[in-house]
Amino acid sequence: MKRWKSLRIKINITGIVQGVGFRPFVYRMAVKNGLKGYVRNRGDAGVEILIEGTKNDIENFLKDLREKKSPLAQIHDIITTKLEGKNEYEKFTIYKSSSETELPGSVIPPDIAICNDCLRELRDPKDPRYEYFFITCTDCGPRFTIIEKLPYDRENTTMQDFPMCDFCRTEYTDPLNRRFHAQTVACPRCGPKVYLTTQKGELIKHEDPIREVGKLLSEGFVIAIKGYGGFHVATSTTKDAPLIRLRKVKHRSEKPFAIMARSLEAVKTFAEVSGKEAELLASYIRPIILLNKSEGYYLSDLIAPALHNVGVMLPYTGLHYMLFDKVDEPAFVMTSANPPNQPIVKDNEEALKTLGATVDYFLFHNRQIAHRCDDSVIRMHDKDLVFIRRSRGYAPAPIMLKEKAKRCVAGLGGELNNTACILLGNKAFISQHIGDVENIETRDFLEDATKHLINLTNSKVETVACDLHPKFTTTNLAHDLANENGWQLVQVQHHYAHVAALMVEHDVKEIVGICCDGYGYGIDGEAWGGEILLCTRESSGFERVAHLEKQPLIGGDLATRYPLRTTAGILYKKVNVEDWLLQNKEHFPHGESEIQIVLHQLEKGHNIIGTTSCGRVLDAVAAVLGICFERTYEGEPAMKLESTAIKGKDILKLKPTIKSNTLDTTQMLLEIFEKRKKYSKADLAYSAHAYLAQGLAKLAIEKAKENNVKTIGFSGGAACNEILTLTMQKTIEAAGLQFLIHKAVPPGDGGLSFGQAVVGGFFQL
Ligand code: ZN
Ligand code: ZN
Ligand code: FE
Repeated sequence: MKRWKSLRIKINITGIVQGVGFRPFVYRMAVKNGLKGYVRNRGDAGVEILIEGTKNDIENFLKDLREKKSPLAQIHDIITTKLEGKNEYEKFTIYKSSSETELPGSVIPPDIAICNDCLRELRDPKDPRYEYFFITCTDCGPRFTIIEKLPYDRENTTMQDFPMCDFCRTEYTDPLNRRFHAQTVACPRCGPKVYLTTQKGELIKHEDPIREVGKLLSEGFVIAIKGYGGFHVATSTTKDAPLIRLRKVKHRSEKPFAIMARSLEAVKTFAEVSGKEAELLASYIRPIILLNKSEGYYLSDLIAPALHNVGVMLPYTGLHYMLFDKVDEPAFVMTSANPPNQPIVKDNEEALKTLGATVDYFLFHNRQIAHRCDDSVIRMHDKDLVFIRRSRGYAPAPIMLKEKAKRCVAGLGGELNNTACILLGNKAFISQHIGDVENIETRDFLEDATKHLINLTNSKVETVACDLHPKFTTTNLAHDLANENGWQLVQVQHHYAHVAALMVEHDVKEIVGICCDGYGYGIDGEAWGGEILLCTRESSGFERVAHLEKQPLIGGDLATRYPLRTTAGILYKKVNVEDWLLQNKEHFPHGESEIQIVLHQLEKGHNIIGTTSCGRVLDAVAAVLGICFERTYEGEPAMKLESTAIKGKDILKLKPTIKSNTLDTTQMLLEIFEKRKKYSKADLAYSAHAYLAQGLAKLAIEKAKENNVKTIGFSGGAACNEILTLTMQKTIEAAGLQFLIHKAVPPGDGGLSFGQAVVGGFFQL
């Protein structure tokens, strides 16, 4: 008879293995397989296991680790080392965490929406956590937003202010309980408390403040509600008056507000929901999804004015669910509370100061938010998921790449809709949404978020990457960080970063990239935004092989704000637009005199900068069709143009005019201008989309064939546009070429930090 030999093995696991019930899971699997030893969390966000047992039992244990782990856990590497020594352990134990940091690349999970078990307990009168608004377990609850430092233990989170009561502690220490080692465990006795105040912060005593807030919302009051990652401003979706008020005080005349619906069934009463959309809405991520308004859309038109879609999410905390208990409202407005040009508000004092004048009441809780995190926003193009904003529910989970980067890079992004990115090996950690980085507050937020991400992932950054623009706040920050830390600095052209992101995301070595957006600083210092770039990994760089026609940008930023200026600049070359402009003089802030100045400038032809921006062309079309005369939020004219086009068809069937690698846009706009009374706005808006998409696709196909490249990609903010994307796809695939869009990264500037990081980490020698 052969005697079995006992082995002793140390296992290091990297990935997302803290805050997902991994140690309790390891404990159960070890006990099940008759192993002894310990498991503990480490300061590098990884997990360390020591086991003693037979070869066979250990193999079964390792198999269980891979196959039976919770779907929230992500295992990147399992590193096993045989150890010397005799059996030392009498049983298997969860040890106190060690603060040792050794292995890079692990990270804590994103915030996770309330799970079904917790939701059931929330509603069960016999459960000790009945109606407890912050009920959580090892499978759900906040993670990223409460953690101050690693390892993920209660004392390193903002739950440290809430010592567990005896009941919670019993569950926490019971290996058979769902809350075994759940760091966010709490109950009505020991956990965070919720309370209602006036707009001045005076306490309003109420035994059921959450449901009271639900009632107040349905009556039309405006209330700031503190959540996991920041404050929302909430109100009714069916009444106009509070929305008018909210728009006035927030200085947001048109920008769409996100809403939170009580249930999937409620969503279906006002929006179209595909199977995939329903699945994502109800997933543990609970993102905001831009859903097409249905025929019978009955919510206030002031929620998403002149848009065909509306941003909807489902409740993701117990508190959210309870808001709907005592009312019949299908949904509440639930928009991020951020003062103009500031990040989302996260602290109670700050909320009182900055939101007090906007809202009627506050619904506070007394847990601090360690790191703010806005809701994520997603749109589906047919069956493809497009990130408008990748934030709560995703950050800081990494995007896994096929190849390992040559060095560790921090990408700081551009200016608008910004994020940061840490590229480490074959993982890219993209931060939560930072917003527009144009002032000290947002710069500080970006810097903090970047450093936090570096610490969380135990990264040793060697290179910092930023935009080519010499004056961006982010460029500035990159210079400072490079000097402070001795990092190498890499500046990456805006559209090249977009296309490089696409290449690395899909692991392609060469591509013809179509990149369309509002603005990016070109290598010639000019304003780019409708570019076709040839990029190959070998040449490590890019060639601008084609672009949209250069059009005058009269008055720089003013032209971006008032699309009629761009329209005037384009049409001026072909027709006398003075009469038409005068008919629209109320859309110029200074009326007739402003029009005369614009015309004078065009006549003289000096002091006019040019732009190849796709966004400006769409703006001009929107103005010609009378769809939008003032851009009050980023992308507004183009978004409203798409919303108009969605019911249209290609009535003009314009043939792309291409001269010396440039797609004409003047003739296209002129055609629309001349036929503006003959056809419907929807058909003309669609025709403009079809022209641009087919023209750019044709140019890209030409360049791909010339250079023997098999793949064409589409990136930049305009790739959020469904008509442009699907039309390009059809044209390019019909030519027998592969068409790529982003799947894991936002095509807009939220994906820029990733693009910069991959140029620094993969392409630069
Ligand atoms: Zn749960
Ligand atoms: Zn408790
Ligand atoms: Fe861009």
